Amino acid sequence: MKPLGPIPLGYNALDGELAISGKTASDLAERAGSTPLFVYSRDLICDRVASLRAALPDRVAIHYAVKANPFGPILEQMNELVDGFDIASGGELDLISAAGVDLAKVSFAGPGKRDIELAAAISAGVTLNLESESEARRALSIAERQGKRPRLAIRVNPDFELRGSGMKMGGGAKPFGVDAEWVPDLAREVIAAGAEWRGLHIFAGSQALSADAIIEAQANTLALAARLSEAIGGPIPHCNMGGGFGIPYFAGDEPLDIVAVGAALSERIADLPDILSDTQFCIELGRFLVGEAGVYLTRIVDRKQSHGETYLITDGGLHHQLAASGNFGTVVRRNYPVAIASHFSAEPVEEVNVVGCLCTPLDRLADKALLPRAEVGDLVAVFCAGAYGASASPSAFLGQGPAKEILA
Ligand SMILES: *Cc1c(COP(=O)(O)O)cnc(C)c1O
Repeated sequence: MKPLGPIPLGYNALDGELAISGKTASDLAERAGSTPLFVYSRDLICDRVASLRAALPDRVAIHYAVKANPFGPILEQMNELVDGFDIASGGELDLISAAGVDLAKVSFAGPGKRDIELAAAISAGVTLNLESESEARRALSIAERQGKRPRLAIRVNPDFELRGSGMKMGGGAKPFGVDAEWVPDLAREVIAAGAEWRGLHIFAGSQALSADAIIEAQANTLALAARLSEAIGGPIPHCNMGGGFGIPYFAGDEPLDIVAVGAALSERIADLPDILSDTQFCIELGRFLVGEAGVYLTRIVDRKQSHGETYLITDGGLHHQLAASGNFGTVVRRNYPVAIASHFSAEPVEEVNVVGCLCTPLDRLADKALLPRAEVGDLVAVFCAGAYGASASPSAFLGQGPAKEILA
């Protein structure tokens, strides 16, 4: 037997079934018209943002990293909850424009921004987090042609990393950001060129569950921001401190203690070096805000035995939930939290392998999992599906096509 990841808080049983935002899995599947589907809980997203706000100092704004989940209704909901958005492509700029977001509170990071994307962002008044010297020069010349004053910040490749981070995005050679030592010269160049100087973006990593690691990275971030401001020769108007708040996916993972993170950050913010005293701060989070609020529901199409093992074969799979299959940046495959949604309150009685419908051995949703008895027609729930699910999976593979999505 292999353990399953922990089912996030906020889900319960209704008439024996899994309920999401008070609606049963079978009702939601019926409402969608077909399976598989992603269901995102509005209540859980709102609760998450509220508890984060309560933990963080008032001076630290909350931005949503659209990359985690760009579903239109989620963007519209987030627009009422958060203070800003971080995008990483021209396509995401179109999505947030369609969701009615005020583009003055948007910043655009990401390597390899094309001229057409830079032009769209500059004309919309989006802040560019510059990833290199040459990108800075391209942005300045595009802005000049537009007769527009660009809003420019510099993304720093920090000289430290976020410990225990699932994905390291700083420390050493990286395609992201400008090496810290080169930032002051570039900042002075951008300011001298007449751009609206927006400050620094310092993102050190993702998916950390240790409060101590986040606290340490935030302290390093503030120290680096102060050091760079001194070297630039003046205060920075804005500092995007990155994020990196993780969520528990696997057995043994413990949730991040955001109260501890917020308390430590409050102390630091109350005791900033003079050069940062007027700087505005934000953190940018994706998965922490939406990951646990999403469930992938897929229906069992076949049940079979092979060499003594039971297989539940579903109509979903890695083409919608690549990460749960273990093929999105994991070294060792471990089980996500998975349940039989149709029998959510039943006792687990048998060991099964839950797989997808794709003709590849990579298409696994749960290995050797202890679950209640399930039959053809029952629904399986894969939790932690609110981030890097629908939009981060190869839905065209094998001609399958995308899953339905619902904000309930
Ligand atoms: C991916 C990314 C994020 C969001 O990461 P999460 O782990 O989803 O919080 C934030 N900022 C930048 C720059 C990113 O590349």
